[in-house]
Amino acid sequence: MPRYFIWTIGCQMNKAESQRIAGYLDSAGYEAATSFADADIVVLNTCVIRQSAESKVLGTLGLLKGLKIKHTNLKILITGCFVDSDMEGLKRRFPHVDFLFRPGDFSELISWSHEQGVPFVQGASLPAAFSPCAFIPIIQGCDNFCSYCIVPYRRGREVSRPLGEIICEVKELAKRGIKEVTLLGQNVDSYGHNLPGHPDLADLLNELSSVDELARVRFLTNHPKDISLKLLESIASLNKVCEHLELPVQAGDDDILRAMRRGYTVERYRELVHTVRHKVPQISLSTDIIVGFPGETEEQFEHTLSLLEEMKFDVVHIAAYSPRAGTIAWREYRDDVPLEFKKERLNKVETLQSGISSQINSQLQGRQMEVLVEGSKKGKWFGRTRSDKLVFFEDNANRFGQLVQVKIGKTSPWALQGEVVDNGNSQNRT
Ligand code: SF4
Repeated sequence: MPRYFIWTIGCQMNKAESQRIAGYLDSAGYEAATSFADADIVVLNTCVIRQSAESKVLGTLGLLKGLKIKHTNLKILITGCFVDSDMEGLKRRFPHVDFLFRPGDFSELISWSHEQGVPFVQGASLPAAFSPCAFIPIIQGCDNFCSYCIVPYRRGREVSRPLGEIICEVKELAKRGIKEVTLLGQNVDSYGHNLPGHPDLADLLNELSSVDELARVRFLTNHPKDISLKLLESIASLNKVCEHLELPVQAGDDDILRAMRRGYTVERYRELVHTVRHKVPQISLSTDIIVGFPGETEEQFEHTLSLLEEMKFDVVHIAAYSPRAGTIAWREYRDDVPLEFKKERLNKVETLQSGISSQINSQLQGRQMEVLVEGSKKGKWFGRTRSDKLVFFEDNANRFGQLVQVKIGKTSPWALQGEVVDNGNSQNRT
């Protein structure tokens, strides 16, 4: 049986698309390989959001060039944000690559498979249920053009999937044992604005809440300038919608936010967080921070630290600014914050946030929380709470895919440890 290996880096959207590609390959009779060397088809699902990610892609392409010399029948496919509008240029630079397709452009992939005589089955792209959780892309692309971001240039403008198509897919997945879906988009708050009737994310959540076998729905990422009160009310009122939001702030200084073209001020963001916490008191919040954006002074960086101290997010994803060719910031600003300052600022945010997360998580000690068990690692089951906390526990029974109640014992900034109380399918909203 021919074998495939899919190499994925980057965001959840790439992971979701890799699951779909695996579904297509399965439908054509391929089986998963454990490494590049064992595969007849290799798919690189790439990310170029930072220079380090792009360098990894280039390194892997170099490795595959060597492999193809030994294994001449090997087919190499590339997708993800490395694939830009200059397809012909990429083909010339990487002649050992057999096929390139834009992220999410599965019709191109299917046409290619027909040309190769190994036709993928249309509609057979549902991810195999190796996990009780599935990622579902609902909107591709982004219309925002934040000054540092390459995504709108690589993934194009926003295109939403029809509501009915998403509901059918989720129903099918739920029948196959999927208990939790995460709806994905660069900006899920834009969902539906280009569809007939303009359904929005709240409408979609409402529909998905009536899928019987499904226990939980999540979504990411939200944009602070676009999130609606209607959505917050849906989180508060719909039992299956988890109380977790990814709400990237990026910086705590108005001048930096303006230069980033984020479309909100610190005050507006602060008010939004207060509204969110008022409407959904159990909410857990994650955010993203970029340190060392062009022109960021020590004082402006201190504003970011103060905002983090004030907001007390559950999780902060931190990155140091790196210029991406083609973006507005790359064209208009000089990357003038020295690398050692960027590293220092990164460390300061990490240290501050580790203390905050540690304090927030320690308050969960003794609490009973519902965990959806995703797998096991080093003799322990692991899964996530509704609030997206990672929980580990020991149990002799097979808990895979179950919703279990866990009493939290030890905590750290990154994870919780606990013991099973029962395995009731409770709707305990913690
Ligand atoms: S909202 Fe901004 S950061 Fe997010 S994908 Fe769109 S352009 Fe990039």
